[in-house]
Amino acid sequence: VFCASQDFDFFYFVQQWPGSYCDTKQSCCYPTTGKPAADFGIHGLWPNYNDGSYPSNCDNSNPFDPSSISDIKRQLQSEWPTLACPSGDGNKFWGHEWNKHGTCSEDILDQPGYFQAALKLKQQTDLLNVLQNVGINPDGEFYSLTSITKAIRDSTGFTPGLECNVDASGNSQLYQIYICVDTSATNLIECPVLPRGKCSSRIEFPIF
Ligand code: 5GP
Ligand code: 5GP
Ligand code: 5GP
Repeated sequence: VFCASQDFDFFYFVQQWPGSYCDTKQSCCYPTTGKPAADFGIHGLWPNYNDGSYPSNCDNSNPFDPSSISDIKRQLQSEWPTLACPSGDGNKFWGHEWNKHGTCSEDILDQPGYFQAALKLKQQTDLLNVLQNVGINPDGEFYSLTSITKAIRDSTGFTPGLECNVDASGNSQLYQIYICVDTSATNLIECPVLPRGKCSSRIEFPIF
């Protein structure tokens, strides 16, 4: 009898604010397909354990295969853009995410399933819209951490994890938002453990 092993407890679905990736000392490079929309972009869907640790690079016999996502490549380029330098078309970033994280949930989601699940979660959470609906806009202004957390909790039903980085002048700013998802990658859940986020109590939401 074949038994699927599933050695993790939940997923972090992680989205990044492009303005906060790009305005740091390290800067960024737009993808070869052009400047992404001013929207949160997917960073990854990461299998995690309840104690905060996580598995990685679980199966080097199942490496990223770009042909497996050819029919959703346009959506990935728009919703999961790469901002690392040098500019790329996305395959390197998606391949890194699949090889490091996706292989650890391969018994549940195959390659196209993994990327499709993330696209669906982005649509389902609609974070920029949720924040803008309560007047939290990517306008370079500062907002309280609690107001951002509350807006997302009110819309999703669950408390998100927020991660900050610092811009070139040293301001704490909203970099990534972590949403917890069950092992089927479809239902949002309360986070068993929140990531350590390094945010000040008031944080910048930079323009992109
Ligand atoms: P950083 O050191 O920039 O926080 O994270 C580097 C990388 O480690 C992330 O891109 C991600 O691949 C992985 N990582 C960091 N924190 C977590 C976590 O809490 N859970 C999982 N599954 N991966 C993480
Ligand atoms: P992690 O291991 O932290 O999940 O993934 C980060 C890796 O993906 C790094 O090697 C980074 O250079 C690469 N990468 C490519 N594009 C991006 C991007 O848009 N955002 C982030 N955070 N990492 C990216
Ligand atoms: P990696 O291990 O992924 O190459 O990168 C380590 C850290 O540096 C990650 O947290 C990633 O977000 C960041 N990083 C990697 N490449 C770039 C880049 O081109 N620009 C910026 N701003 N950060 C990067």
